[in-house]
Amino acid sequence: MNQYDVIVVGGGPAGYTAALYCARAALSTLIIEAMAPGGQMGTTDQIDNYPGFADGVNGFELAMEMQKQAERFGAVSVFAQVSSLHLDAPVKKICTEDGEKYESSAVILALGASPRELGLPNEKNLRGKGVSYCATCDGMFYKGKTVAVIGGGDTAAADTVFLSKICEKIYLVHRRDTLRASKAYLKPLEKCENVEFVWDSVVEKILENGKVTGIRVKNVKTEEQKELTCDGVFIAVGNIPNTGLVKESLRLTPAGYIDAGESTETNLPGVFAAGDVRQKVLRQVVTAVSDGAVAAHMTEEYLTKK
Ligand code: NAP
Repeated sequence: MNQYDVIVVGGGPAGYTAALYCARAALSTLIIEAMAPGGQMGTTDQIDNYPGFADGVNGFELAMEMQKQAERFGAVSVFAQVSSLHLDAPVKKICTEDGEKYESSAVILALGASPRELGLPNEKNLRGKGVSYCATCDGMFYKGKTVAVIGGGDTAAADTVFLSKICEKIYLVHRRDTLRASKAYLKPLEKCENVEFVWDSVVEKILENGKVTGIRVKNVKTEEQKELTCDGVFIAVGNIPNTGLVKESLRLTPAGYIDAGESTETNLPGVFAAGDVRQKVLRQVVTAVSDGAVAAHMTEEYLTKK
């Protein structure tokens, strides 16, 4: 039977926390995840700011624990790509690309966000051939080699520190002359001796011969261009919310996030949004799990009233 009290879409920390709380509230709970548990958290090597892990924790291991914990209370996980969501009627309908159809009285959208692309012409084709958006996943392919990291936020800083332990040399290319990354990420970065900072610079072109061979960067202040030889390019220029499936049915903010406040309620009854896909001030694992708990609580209230 494919009918549930609540379906959680997305198996990152927000989704699995929502599933845990819903299952513990005795709601029949399905969680649909496209890839593997954890979302972006699952691709993070070391998480040092999630309370309870004094020595930090690997993101994928934490995700596996979150999945096990939710399933211990009866939540069911399905791994499939959602192809459509029908959310406006009291009975919500969800279809997956493998042809399954699911129904529920409430839906928690924990759709997360995906890495933003630079938008260069050959970027998509070179994915897997030197272009990567995940240092933890692909870093080992560049052992002893030279890579470039593009970006100036927490992800770029954390990726650079991670790669500095594997690669011979890292160019950190940022479009301004100061990093946006917080101090917690800057301190370990300062200690990396094999990192060369390329300030005020944007990538004009990814150089290739079928595989990445380097990048051409332009200094935005002087207009000077130079080529940097490297085997890999790690792009860490922020994220975009995964709202493609709901952009017609739900109210979004101008930046494309689901317009839901701290209560996680969206403009549709019985539909809640949790984690990075929701409009919020701080996107961290700890705020995602908090959202998951709130969304489950609001779902329970909604179903009780119904
Ligand atoms: P972010 O904070 O949005 O930073 C994106 C960086 O990329 C900024 O430095 C930005 O430059 C630059 N950028 C944006 N578009 C660009 C373009 N087209 N060309 C060149 N550079 C561009 O993204 P993030 O670092 O991925 O962090 C996202 C969220 O995850 C944040 O809330 C962060 O705190 C959280 N987080 C991530 C990790 C992790 O390890 N992945 C860890 C902790 C927290 P400007 O600075 O000039 O805008």
